[in-house]
Amino acid sequence: MASIFTKIINGEIPCYKIAEDDKFFAFLDINPNAKGHTLCIPKIEVDKIMDLDEETYMGLMAFTRKVGKAIEASIDCNRVGITVIGLEVPHVHVHLIPLNAMKEATFQHKVSPTKEEFETISAKIRSKIQ
Ligand code: 5GP
Repeated sequence: MASIFTKIINGEIPCYKIAEDDKFFAFLDINPNAKGHTLCIPKIEVDKIMDLDEETYMGLMAFTRKVGKAIEASIDCNRVGITVIGLEVPHVHVHLIPLNAMKEATFQHKVSPTKEEFETISAKIRSKIQ
């Protein structure tokens, strides 16, 4: 069965899309640690990041760098942190989290943007993708 993230890639489940190329996809996390919290995923459905082939792994890192730079350019933050967990969704995803304080890296502190805020945030990040 397709993972929830494959369904997002295929447009079967809505998302606030940030970027896409032929191999990778980025969208806002629906339950963010901070405004601008973004997930970057490979289109191939692999559960654990260490099981990615090297080319996809390196490509995902390059893609996360491109998206991370756009987040830093558009969201008020000290820096963008990178986390990989994967205990909830068995489809590789890299969390890019705008950080101003350690609590935002803990996954214990959550924010609840409105639909309008999600739309504004995603548009701001998208506008800075190079
Ligand atoms: P992890 O698997 O790394 O523990 O976390 C999975 C992440 O995916 C969580 O931060 C969660 O909020 C996010 N997530 C789960 N389902 C959806 C969804 O349907 N849409 C979006 N945008 N994010 C999701």
